[in-house]
Amino acid sequence: MPRLVTCRGGERGCGATGGPLFPGGGRIASGPRAGGGGSAGPAPAPSPPPLPLPSPPLPAPFPLPFPPSPSAAGGSHARRRRGGGGRAAVAAMVGPGALQRARRLCHWGPAVALAVVAVCSATAMADAALWYWPLDTAGGSVNFVMLLNWTVMILYNYFSAMFVGPGYVPLGWTPEKSQDCMYLQYCKVCQSYKAPRSHHCRKCNRCVMKMDHHCPWINNCCGYQNHASFTLFLLLAPLGCIHASFIFIMTMYTQLYNRISFGWSSVKIDMSAAKRDPRPIIPFGLSAFAASLFALGLALGTTIAVGMLFIIQMKVILTNKTSIESWIEEKAKDRIQYYQTGETFIFPYDMGSKWKNFRQVFTWSGIPEGDGLDWPVRDGCHQYSLTIEQLKQKADKRVRSVRYRAIEDYSGVCCPVTKGVKTFFTTPCTEEPRIALSKGDLILATRGLKHWMYGEKILISAADGGIRERGWFPRNCVEKYQHDSETDQPVDGEKKIK
Ligand SMILES: [Zn+2]
Ligand SMILES: [Zn+2]
Repeated sequence: MPRLVTCRGGERGCGATGGPLFPGGGRIASGPRAGGGGSAGPAPAPSPPPLPLPSPPLPAPFPLPFPPSPSAAGGSHARRRRGGGGRAAVAAMVGPGALQRARRLCHWGPAVALAVVAVCSATAMADAALWYWPLDTAGGSVNFVMLLNWTVMILYNYFSAMFVGPGYVPLGWTPEKSQDCMYLQYCKVCQSYKAPRSHHCRKCNRCVMKMDHHCPWINNCCGYQNHASFTLFLLLAPLGCIHASFIFIMTMYTQLYNRISFGWSSVKIDMSAAKRDPRPIIPFGLSAFAASLFALGLALGTTIAVGMLFIIQMKVILTNKTSIESWIEEKAKDRIQYYQTGETFIFPYDMGSKWKNFRQVFTWSGIPEGDGLDWPVRDGCHQYSLTIEQLKQKADKRVRSVRYRAIEDYSGVCCPVTKGVKTFFTTPCTEEPRIALSKGDLILATRGLKHWMYGEKILISAADGGIRERGWFPRNCVEKYQHDSETDQPVDGEKKIK
């Protein structure tokens, strides 16, 4: 019975045999096989058939971190409460743990996002009262009610996305059949297997169901449960901003039209009270003009930036392929081309119909389809097509990585002043962490820039707790580690990080 090469965090050995991981073309026959055949639907997909495996000497099957208890493995996924999307959102805001969730607000992202909403909404309402007094005409009333409506809807979806959250893989989760563990990666932090489509988020410190990305603006991940509310927020915010921009422009135009004159070298604005009948309730002075102009800039900027994010998210939803999965698919193509294995990788979750993909996220109940752990797959794929590809990529990365040893201490600061000017100024512009190094530390580097490298510290003892330390470090703090003749075979990937 063939087995899959598995690499787990902190462990060495996978792919330590060196050389191409999947040589000999046909060894990894194309993964997709029978399995699926219409496994779409709520019924759990049949277990994947025995898998084709990379053939270099295989490590022993990795031990389960804990014996699969029948209850844990018996399909006792923490199913989410059913109920209206609205109720779920309200419960999330005021229910137990509200304090903890409210902490999500204490971050620069929500502070800036809510400030933008507040400035644009308040200015638009004040301007609307000036330009189109809502109590005089039906048009004015409709305009004002619409403005209020945008604000309420935007805030509702914003807070839903933030407080309902993406949904996390239950701690200690294992697949229903314990033998399926071999197709999944294991998360040491959550002490659980990573369900298909889930990824561990360092910011949330949990494995997130169908993770797309961690969004700083909602200070939470965008994933399975909040994908719809997040996308609605991205749709409503630009629409509200377009309406508000129209009001800002009309207000400034009507208030200033007869009172602004341009000379050869000066602009003269008459800020005396408008001689209108009825007199405006709010006088349009210089500060009101400045506020409207500022809000207009803010609204137009938001329309463009958030509108682009909306387009990206719609693409994710219609193809049922998250940003992370697009990246995995790209790497799958690279890997197959590199090793000339002749496989074809078929992304398993795109149901082939935009409407079907759309309906997985947007439902009348407001609750997305499924439970976030089992996913319908297209014909020719099985439930673990993607996770198996991830395992192959992980093993491949190990093979292509190079060992380095720290020759200097490094404190882990973003811009170290003692490591040279070039290192200081070329620090990677990413939120990825830096790792502190002590002289003698061993690091497995996987990629690099001219003056920086990214890799994982090799943990020597179990006392390290098995927590992986990955991040960037200055290139001039390390040198290539030459001594390990057993594992340091010529590595193909070296050229990648040279
Ligand atoms: Zn995790
Ligand atoms: Zn997150």
